[in-house]
Amino acid sequence: MTSPLLHLLALAGPRQACRYCAAATESGALCSRCEQALQDLRQRCFQCALPLTDSAGICGECLANPPCFDRTVCGDSYQPPFSHWLQNFKDFRDLRDGHLLTRRLIQQLERAYPSTDGRPQALIPVPLHWRKALWRNFNQSCWMARQLGRHFNIPVIQALHRTQPGDDQRHLSRQERQRNLRGVFRLHPRCQRASIWPSLHNKHVALIDDVITTTATARAISRELRHQGIGRVDIWSLARTDKTHLHY
Ligand SMILES: [Zn+2]
Ligand SMILES: [Zn+2]
Repeated sequence: MTSPLLHLLALAGPRQACRYCAAATESGALCSRCEQALQDLRQRCFQCALPLTDSAGICGECLANPPCFDRTVCGDSYQPPFSHWLQNFKDFRDLRDGHLLTRRLIQQLERAYPSTDGRPQALIPVPLHWRKALWRNFNQSCWMARQLGRHFNIPVIQALHRTQPGDDQRHLSRQERQRNLRGVFRLHPRCQRASIWPSLHNKHVALIDDVITTTATARAISRELRHQGIGRVDIWSLARTDKTHLHY
């Protein structure tokens, strides 16, 4: 028979520390106070998720230079503590931070797509070049796509490949990034042969990326997907920089 004390301890569950303030939590992610304090309530551009200074709906950048994607939903701003957790996840494969950030993105996605009708029919992760994939043995976008696919019950299709390794883009302007990315992302030959691709003709997909900075990658990939017959592309990302010209 369980003693009343043990029963009470079992009810309390395992105590873990909040990732931000170290207060005890039930889940080991963020405590409810931090969850609230770290909320970002700013208006964002519907198309690229850039924070807006007024309630225009679409930012000047998207109006002047419209991308091939329809909508961007991001979990958080690319600033501390999220940028720090994102680097832990991406560069050091800290899945605890990966789960924390993905959960925050899921909350935003549930708000953005309240019913299953408006949700994409497939999730497509941003590919790494095979050499980089071999060296890193971890594609953070594929990992995210699998978590999101499981949560929303949407298939994940690794539809794309990267034809060139691509140098470090961090120091480049958006124009330079866009020029560098021309023709770099292609539909994977395996996908062209498979019967699944024709079934996505004119359908709605979401591109899964860890962070959106200049939108150059999202623009290049959505152009290729539209060119390959996809009807609508949305972007789902863990974080978004507050300015498109910001380097990180
Ligand atoms: Zn906390
Ligand atoms: Zn925009």
